[in-house]
Amino acid sequence: MNKLTSGKKLVLILADGLRAEIARNYMGYLQAINEAGRAQWRSLNCELPSLSRPLYATLINGQTPLDHGIVSNAQAGQRCGSTVFDDLAAAGGSSAVAAYHWFFELLSGQRFEPARHRHEALPAAGVQAASWYFEDEYPDSHLLADAEHLRRSVNPDLLFIHPMGPDHAGHQFGGESTAYSMCARKLDMMLALLLPTWHAAGYDVLLTSDHGMHADRMHGGPLAIEREVPLVWLPCTGNAMDCVLPDSQLGLRSFVVHHLIAH
Ligand SMILES: [Zn+2]
Repeated sequence: MNKLTSGKKLVLILADGLRAEIARNYMGYLQAINEAGRAQWRSLNCELPSLSRPLYATLINGQTPLDHGIVSNAQAGQRCGSTVFDDLAAAGGSSAVAAYHWFFELLSGQRFEPARHRHEALPAAGVQAASWYFEDEYPDSHLLADAEHLRRSVNPDLLFIHPMGPDHAGHQFGGESTAYSMCARKLDMMLALLLPTWHAAGYDVLLTSDHGMHADRMHGGPLAIEREVPLVWLPCTGNAMDCVLPDSQLGLRSFVVHHLIAH
């Protein structure tokens, strides 16, 4: 029996490398919901270093990189300790994940091998269904389709979606480029097609990012453009102010747990 008695479900979107002000300025569909008073729009300062693998671990584990020990993108195959997926599984809930293969490594403690692991669920890590990609240029459109397929197949309490588009465009062309802002625009247009479906199915939606992006095509340091990420809350009820959002990335794990598990 499912013990998650809050009756809530959540789509958590981690748009990789999406700077806070790029989300604010270029995601017009999400801003329409915000202007209608049905969203809560914040930004967060990411933890340091402002790098992907350390912050993936922080977002799901709730500790700083210094504390969970993943401080470099080069720590392949290393586990990050317990995560939000463990919390939900312990409460009888289910999670599905469509994400970059570094998440597979952080959750499983194994090196990712495409032919073996591409669609491997990780029940021991609280993930009941999964799809992992391993090229940075994997299109966000395909990843969103993977994620929606998982949702329709297993109806998880938590659907975690991790598109790479903004980060990839930022590394190629920089955080001030038209390619980078175009990525945010495209993601917004894709979400315009999916969000109504998720809301109709009873899913609340939270969008955030791991880190920002400098014009020099990198991130990692403490500058605001590398550090400020969006935190956009889009509940299916439209009552956006009912919820107290976390004020740092360290609070995301407990926010998800408190939202999905009744107390
Ligand atoms: Zn990056």
